[in-house]
Amino acid sequence: MMIVMKETASDQEIEAVISKIERAGARAHSSRGERVTVIGAIGDVEQDENVATLGLEGQPGVDRVVPILKPYKLASSQFRHGEPTVLEIGGRKVGGEHFALIAGPCTVESREQVLASADVVKAAGAAMLRGGAYKPRTSPYSFQGLGEEGLKLLAEAKAQTGLPVVTELMDARDLPAVLEVADVIQLGARNMQNFPLLAEVGRAGRPVLLKRGLAATLEELLMAAEYILKEGNPNVMLCERGIRTFENAYRSTLDLQAVPVLKELSHLPVIVDPSHAAGRRTLVRAMSLAAAAAGADGIIVEVHPNPDEAICDGPQALPTDTFAEYVDVVHQAAALAGKNIAPTRIGAPLAGAA
Ligand code: PEP
Ligand code: MN
Repeated sequence: MMIVMKETASDQEIEAVISKIERAGARAHSSRGERVTVIGAIGDVEQDENVATLGLEGQPGVDRVVPILKPYKLASSQFRHGEPTVLEIGGRKVGGEHFALIAGPCTVESREQVLASADVVKAAGAAMLRGGAYKPRTSPYSFQGLGEEGLKLLAEAKAQTGLPVVTELMDARDLPAVLEVADVIQLGARNMQNFPLLAEVGRAGRPVLLKRGLAATLEELLMAAEYILKEGNPNVMLCERGIRTFENAYRSTLDLQAVPVLKELSHLPVIVDPSHAAGRRTLVRAMSLAAAAAGADGIIVEVHPNPDEAICDGPQALPTDTFAEYVDVVHQAAALAGKNIAPTRIGAPLAGAA
């Protein structure tokens, strides 16, 4: 159930609606848009029925009460009247007209590797640094990440560059350590439906990058996001990273239609990961341009100072030495899709001027 308040509704009127909903045993999630406040009353079926009998329609300040038709409620575009959510992460905005390029190595390998990557990412004008300290590996015999040592190196890279850090959490027991450094917690494709973990990061409140599972539908992705939102954390970005299909000419099939469709279904920002979809660096640039032109709110891409020697995902990593040029063309494609891209590095061409 969604309670749309009048433009003129006062704080007291909003509070009165919230406490009525809570007394009926449901949770109230309010979302203040530019003009109106919408309050989602979320509970199980029984609680929804209680809310329906509250007579909220006649309550002061209430404009109308409408059911949310989708199975995901807080994630649905209806919940924000079609207004996109804009996240602010370490001074960088993502969503709406704001585009964020997130880049860095697949995994943190050494101090030199992560600091060199971070410097290049910063100098090229990207918005955030990525890097995994805890890695989900198919083989238990593969390198599993540097763990807490990796988090410390990310903290050093953040201090050196000022870039916000995106890093993966796989195990709720590592949450306190990850919260020390992560500006964005990445939940990887393999954990998209780890429901207790989703709820845990929901309670933590930190922005989340939620990657689509290898065989998950868009509805399943949105239901997973709902687990985080329901705990009171509105800061979720959805990430299309390729899905498993019959095609085996590349690592995964990048489902670019997910970009406009997710934006139709949800108000949450949509990020594309061309690296894990492609599995090969020769495909990454074309897919990045296509994703940006399709209206993605950001791209997360792997870059490495020496891809041939990378411990993890080297074949798909872009080399750092041509990264600045890559950032410029991706920003131009994003500008074509209507994103407002300020020139982000000295000497960079004005996006949209090409
Ligand atoms: C990653 O980002 O390094 C990663 C492992 O991604 P995914 O969960 O999409 O496979
Ligand atoms: Mn990787």
